[in-house]
This record gives sequence, structure tokens and C-alpha cells, in this order.
Amino acid sequence: MLIVAPVLLTAGPAAAKRLSVVATTGMVADLARAVAGDRAEVAALMGEGVDPHLYKPTRSDMARLLRADVVLINGLRLEGKMSDAFERLSAAGKPVIAVAEGVDEARLIAPPEFAGHHDPHVWMDVALWAQALESTRNALSSADPDGAGTYARNADAYAAQLRELDAYARRVLGSVPANARVLITAHDAFTYLGRAYGIEVRGIQGISTESEAGLKTIEELVALLAERKVPAVFPETSVSDRNVLALVEGAAARGHTVVLGGALFSDAMGAPGTYEGTYVGMIDHNVTTIARALGGDAPAGGFQGKLRLASHVGAAR
Ligand code: ZN
Repeated sequence: MLIVAPVLLTAGPAAAKRLSVVATTGMVADLARAVAGDRAEVAALMGEGVDPHLYKPTRSDMARLLRADVVLINGLRLEGKMSDAFERLSAAGKPVIAVAEGVDEARLIAPPEFAGHHDPHVWMDVALWAQALESTRNALSSADPDGAGTYARNADAYAAQLRELDAYARRVLGSVPANARVLITAHDAFTYLGRAYGIEVRGIQGISTESEAGLKTIEELVALLAERKVPAVFPETSVSDRNVLALVEGAAARGHTVVLGGALFSDAMGAPGTYEGTYVGMIDHNVTTIARALGGDAPAGGFQGKLRLASHVGAAR
């Protein structure tokens, strides 16, 4: 308490300036906003529908990053085309914190085809993503030590909300009949979700959208859909529908009707200012959509009755 008064006196007008945080993805920005409350200005470089695997920073992005007090990234090579930019920022003395690299390493998934690197889509497991709160809180607290108490309180409150969301996801995905517990999507973004909530997950493309889908993969997935009588496959908002539609056609040729479930938010959230444009809304939309399209029980309004997008396209047909 004794040091508070001198700090306030010497800080002058600068004390009124809010911390400036620039995040790469919307999910990371949302985490930062939850922790920061109104003590920081948080912006995301990548908006709705943007694919972080392919995103290249523009000159004005670089300027924004250089002006920020703190740069928060997902890390684990999600932002694959931004590694030079991150190096330049670090060399310029900018704190660049990879929040997904702060979670329990033993719980990261290292797929054999990913050459010793970890799957970066950590946000798909709500309990694991909640661990990224710690590195976010630490990053903000070291840039703005006066706010440390606020950041800790906000992080705790958000963690409690995420625990409820995790329990909801477990409940609704747990209600999907055993044969249909298969989630087929455009790319491998949902492995963490599958492990956390007990759903077999297959992506048509690999972990990065840079890889091409093979004809053999498409044929295998069509056979799986027909054998298991899986009712739906799911497009993603940030990836082309082309391959997912090939599955629907392939299954039809085998006499099995597969519908397109609602589009899932994989690597980008929904529109800014909407419920689906928040992390909680994104996950709520995904798990509610998946559960309903695959024959499970989930309320149309989702976790908090706030879902507005069609979450049961498949079930309606
Ligand atoms: Zn991805």
C-alpha cells in the first residue's frame, strides 16, 4: 500500500492511458479481453472467417504490432506465416507471448504426421484453453503491474464460466448415440475437442489447411459415413466447403444420405459484436450444432439460450 501513492504521482497523465494489447486470432483476443476488463484496449489482427494458417501480416499489421504494449499469439505454429514477424517484434524488445504454449505440455497432442510439433488447436478443449488464462494474466500483469489484482480476479471469474461451458459440452456431446459419434470436418482442427468430449474426429485436410486432401482420404471417409450411418458432416467457416461437399455426394452414390450440419467455427470466431463472435459463443455454437446434427440432445438456444445461428441444419431435413 505504501508504494501506491508515489507511483500514481509520478505516473501522471500516462496512468490514464490504457494498456494496448494486439492479439493474432479472435480466440486469443477474447481471452485477453476477459482478463483485461476495461484496463486494456484489445484488438485482433484476424477477423471473422480468416484462416490463421495462411495469414500473412500486412505492413499496417506490423505497425499495429509495433505500437502495442503486449502482443499475444496462439503459438504452436498456428500462425505459420507470421514467424518472421514475431522474430522482428521480439528483436525490437516487444513482449510476444504464445498463450497456448503456456498450457500443460503433457496434454498437448503431437500427431505423428506433424513432424514432432504439437497440434495448435488447443482452444477446442475448453478446460485446456482455460489454462491459457495464466500466461495471459501474467503477460498483462507484467506490462501493467498496478492491474495485477484486477487481472487475477477477472481470470478467476472467466475460468468459472469456462468450467460451466466445459460441463455443457460434455453433457450435450455425451448424448450423441454411439454409432454417430464421428465428427468429420474440412480440416483437422477438432482433435482436442474429440479427445476432451469423446467423439472420433476425422479431418479431410491435415492439421494445417496448407495440405491438400487426397482422393484416398475422401473415399475412406465416405466408407466410414456409410458403414456407421453417420447422419452429418460439417463445413467450417474459415475453410472452403469443396471437400465436405464431395463427401455428401460420395455417400449419396452409396445410397447413404448425409446432410451438411451447420458450419462450425474452427480457426476463427463469428462476426464481431455477436455471441458467436466470442469464444464462449463459438464453442457453444459448435458443440450444440454437432450434438443436434448427430442425433444428440441439446437445446436450440445452446448453453445460455443465446445462440442465433441455425444450429441444427442437419436435424431439420
Ligand atoms: Zn486449423
